[in-house]
Amino acid sequence: MTKFNNTMDVFKLLEKTNCRKCNKPTCLAFAAAVFQGQRSLSECPFIGKDILKAYGNKNDKKKSGPDRDYAKVMARLKENIKQTDLKSRAKILGGKFSNNRLTIKILGKDFSVDIKGEISTDIHVNRWIAPPVLNYILSSKGLALTEKWVPFRELETSKDWAHFFEHQCVKRFKKIADSSSSFFENIIEIFNGKPVENHYEADIALIIKPLPLLPMLICYNNPEEEMESDLNLFFDSTADKNLPSANIYTLSTGLANMLEKLAITHA
Ligand code: SF4
Repeated sequence: MTKFNNTMDVFKLLEKTNCRKCNKPTCLAFAAAVFQGQRSLSECPFIGKDILKAYGNKNDKKKSGPDRDYAKVMARLKENIKQTDLKSRAKILGGKFSNNRLTIKILGKDFSVDIKGEISTDIHVNRWIAPPVLNYILSSKGLALTEKWVPFRELETSKDWAHFFEHQCVKRFKKIADSSSSFFENIIEIFNGKPVENHYEADIALIIKPLPLLPMLICYNNPEEEMESDLNLFFDSTADKNLPSANIYTLSTGLANMLEKLAITHA
């Protein structure tokens, strides 16, 4: 069976019409998903049997433990989405529902899921992003924001995750902010961050919206004389009612991963 060496190997086999029948916004996005093992070549209806026979189905390959777990989680969430009234969830979640598709904004960009649980979006969907977003769609209580900002550890249900959050999110955000001059620029341009005017006593304060009802406040103080720099992340006091603490941790870790990659790319 022939193997793919990169996304372009898959792309070359496609119609390149961006018709979206595979529920991806472009043929290139579909090709990337096939190469990463998230989608199967057979999900493009224009792929001939001869090509499928030659290239097989990448999803049929034996998956590693984490890949298998991720596939299981996604299959379960997809089934739950099928059982959910997305139209009524859209009203609760601050999203829109049209053409059998619920659309919410993630970091200012559209993320859609249809009534069959298929995702379409221009953002890079990976294991740090997709499960928390689908859980948000399924289980968020949709509480209105109080605009009272609290650190993650002060959320009622965050106890089991607070230590990990400090290490995998806060410390990594701080490290990137300290070492990358493009950190705040990336947050504003790519994460659609909005500077906060009164700065919450920080030198720089920005709000991003990983999910419509899950804003995150990033506060940074520059180093001064003998004082180290300081970075803190805050959430609305409703955060763990609108998304379970475990998912807030996962999503925030995904953001840290993205910022690290961006810092390298823009260096
Ligand atoms: S269904 Fe096939 S041709 Fe259409 S967008 Fe998807 S990959 Fe491209």
